[in-house]
Amino acid sequence: MRMRNTFLPYARQWIDDRDIEAVTAILKGDYLTTGPLVPELESKMAKTVGARYAVAFANGTAALHAACSAAGIGDGDEVITTPMTFAASANCVLYQNGTPVFADIDERTYNVDPVEVEKLVTDRTKAIIAVDFTGQPANLAALRKIASKHGLVLIEDAAHALGASYQGSKVGSVSDMTMFSLHPVKHVTSGEGGVITTNSEEYYRKLLRFRSHGIVRDRESLENPSRGAWYYEMQELGYNYRLTDFQAALAVSQLDKLDRFVERRRAIADRYNEAFCDMEEAILPEQDGNGESSWHLYVVQLKLDRLRFGRDEIFERMHAENIGVNLHYIPVHLHPYYRRLGYGPGLCPKAERFYDRVLTLPLFPAMTDRDVEDVIHAFRKVIGESVKEPVAG
Ligand SMILES: *Cc1c(COP(=O)(O)O)cnc(C)c1O
Repeated sequence: MRMRNTFLPYARQWIDDRDIEAVTAILKGDYLTTGPLVPELESKMAKTVGARYAVAFANGTAALHAACSAAGIGDGDEVITTPMTFAASANCVLYQNGTPVFADIDERTYNVDPVEVEKLVTDRTKAIIAVDFTGQPANLAALRKIASKHGLVLIEDAAHALGASYQGSKVGSVSDMTMFSLHPVKHVTSGEGGVITTNSEEYYRKLLRFRSHGIVRDRESLENPSRGAWYYEMQELGYNYRLTDFQAALAVSQLDKLDRFVERRRAIADRYNEAFCDMEEAILPEQDGNGESSWHLYVVQLKLDRLRFGRDEIFERMHAENIGVNLHYIPVHLHPYYRRLGYGPGLCPKAERFYDRVLTLPLFPAMTDRDVEDVIHAFRKVIGESVKEPVAG
């Protein structure tokens, strides 16, 4: 018998009537693309995370690209990041003709290990891109120390960590630039969307310019300020990475629910921790005590030496129960594209080992208590069927 009749995905948005009203109000108005709702989203994001500035982008990947540009990443510059992330955290360096350098993870938190980061610093290193994997902030204090010592920019990919905090500060107020994604699986959504928060006015101005073709209009930033009010200048090669106003309206409305969303995520994670704490075949996600996770993902590591089946078989068996477990992540340096660039297996052995054993259980605020119990029962059942028989004698 299957655990449930309907498929439970690993993540899903929560859209209510207020969100729908907020979007339709904009659709009936004057602005479809950037209008008043984009700056409203930016000031609300800045306030939410305690940063001075926020700049909204078409998606989180565009936001990371802009951050790399603002940080001055160019030809041959090295940027140290983690392999245990979505490819975008490293691709943004390639967009700028820089070189991503992968530092291995800390096996307790699965975040990048600052000791490994420091070993990889060279005189070509320009920045560190830390990722708050699963919503638990990276070791930002240690990374900040390395960045200060070597004159590097600290960029934080907090796509998983809106609503998280680090040593009493909100994620988004700590690093030089912090990226949030507004993709539907993330904490709040605009369909597609991304935001950079920063306390630096210089980065803020660069991010704005990069978002819209490298074009500048405000008088004090012009190279030829004597021209008329119609005048604008393209000062660098930028992109069209703008967010539409109806998307911004959705994100503004969603942000009102952020605290509730994070609270619900934490409650579900607590329930999983409690339900699986005696399970000897799995390692539960460990918190390092430096921050409060916003629980984007709940990942377990399977103790394969205790199991008859590998991770892929357990993945299939969970899907057969209609539980949409997922996998985060294929280490970036193992993708075919990166292998063709010369990266490959053996570069980050801890991340590679973790990848072979990891499984993501469903976790999103719209899950009912019943959904949560279904996941627990299905996982216990599948693991129970997978346990190795004790060797006789
Ligand atoms: C979602 C995500 C991104 C990219 O965000 P998009 O908005 O989908 O472009 C980048 N890094 C991480 C870790 C993510 O999870």
